[in-house]
Amino acid sequence: MTHKKIRVRFAPSPTGPLHMGGVRTALFNYLFARKHGGDFLLRIEDTDQTRFVRNAEKYIVDSLTWCGITIDEGIGAVNQGEYGPYRQSERKNLYRNFAYDLIASGNAYYAFDTAEELNTLREQGEAAKNPFVYNFETRKHLCNSLTLSEQEVAQRIADNQPYVIRFKMPENQDVHLYDEIRKEVHFNTKELDDKVLYKSDGMPTYHLANVVDDYTMGITHVIRGEEWLSSMPLHVLLYRAFGWETDMPKFAHLPLILKPQGQGKLSKRDGDKLGFPVFPLNWVGDDGETAAGYKETGYLPEAFVNMLALLGWNPGTEQEIFTMDELIDAFSLERVGKSGSKFDPEKTKWFNQQWIQRTPNYKLAELILPTILEQGIQTSPQYVEKVCALVKERAVFIQDLWLQATYFYKAPETYDEKVIQKRWDSSIPAILQEICEILQTQNTFSSTHLEETIKQYIHNKQLNMGQIFNCIRLCIVGTSAGAHLFDIFEMIGKTETIARIQKAIATIH
Ligand code: GLU
Repeated sequence: MTHKKIRVRFAPSPTGPLHMGGVRTALFNYLFARKHGGDFLLRIEDTDQTRFVRNAEKYIVDSLTWCGITIDEGIGAVNQGEYGPYRQSERKNLYRNFAYDLIASGNAYYAFDTAEELNTLREQGEAAKNPFVYNFETRKHLCNSLTLSEQEVAQRIADNQPYVIRFKMPENQDVHLYDEIRKEVHFNTKELDDKVLYKSDGMPTYHLANVVDDYTMGITHVIRGEEWLSSMPLHVLLYRAFGWETDMPKFAHLPLILKPQGQGKLSKRDGDKLGFPVFPLNWVGDDGETAAGYKETGYLPEAFVNMLALLGWNPGTEQEIFTMDELIDAFSLERVGKSGSKFDPEKTKWFNQQWIQRTPNYKLAELILPTILEQGIQTSPQYVEKVCALVKERAVFIQDLWLQATYFYKAPETYDEKVIQKRWDSSIPAILQEICEILQTQNTFSSTHLEETIKQYIHNKQLNMGQIFNCIRLCIVGTSAGAHLFDIFEMIGKTETIARIQKAIATIH
């Protein structure tokens, strides 16, 4: 038996910036495709024109690119693929015929009820505490091709009366479904309504377009968020109604990502409220709305992806740090859990800190060099690379590699008062003067050599090592923090080291 090539898709609607939950869905699809040598498609589901947001599609593609999730086919792919177009708005004529097929086979019907009529029914239902549902019962009394005569239906259509096409939900049928993560799912069709498949504006609804596209694009696995689980019965019934059941994809609904305290789903608005990003990249909407992204906050894509992978999936081992290749290797739907996963902002920082240690220094240098040059500071990629090597251990965010290391590029402008109070006394200027003279005579200006020389001097003079080191550091860095003192000496060089000590002697009183 030959197995079909695995084909999965990420199918977001361009209604705004892509939330990290969406990126996780894309990631799991991507890992699954790569693991099985399959295809990962990006399809844009833009049938709801009222919610369309300009730039959202570009944002989606840019976000996946930043994460290292490469698209094999569809929007944003190098090779477009043979199943296009991959934007649903560009496929709209295709859906109409499929909707008509369902009418012809008795699985769908025209409904002419106006919005006002339906609103009145909804209001009455609310007042009577018996919500109105368009379903197998109510449809018998409403204005549709099940209740009207054939001639009347034909006349209304000929008169261009607006209509929608609804799915004719079977009455009282027990249906058993299988979800790869949730396993057996049961329901009875009488619990479901007659969903609109095709709208009066000539556009399909999500349900019709989604099923038609998954089928015609040869999708083998639908891996998506839990919020779509409730649509699965309808989708499976649509496959059956079309007679496509043997080619129906397998379904896997991913668990929710929960707020850090676990109280409900992590929403798009939580980022601003709770003080961490929920989007991969910064977003600026046409309406002026802005949101912070992981990238611009100083996260590495490797850390973001690593953190996301472990939200809902576990490798079954103690391993926490994974490269993309390791994730591909280890990933399986069997190890995706059912219950929601709490997002942990502190752990996310930890992942970033870990990934900064693992990233080659030249790459870190590339990331911060533009910021340094923007400050008008003259430096070289090689120098920044060396600085990264010295300060990365303490960096949580990319910008820390610059913000915690400015003393490698410029002399301090102020000196920490507390250190002055504690360490500086009237004997210090003369001692520092002598140290400058010693430094001046050194032919080798290497960290280890300088450390030995200065320690020797302090020892010979029977001075307090801690006090003198603190005072030198104050001159060089401006505070009591920073990298190893003599590494800084070596990096900034003899002239700059002496100049900084002289400047401090002249400034601190
Ligand atoms: N367009 C849906 C969304 O925005 C796709 C759901 C699915 O994958 O079927 O997430």
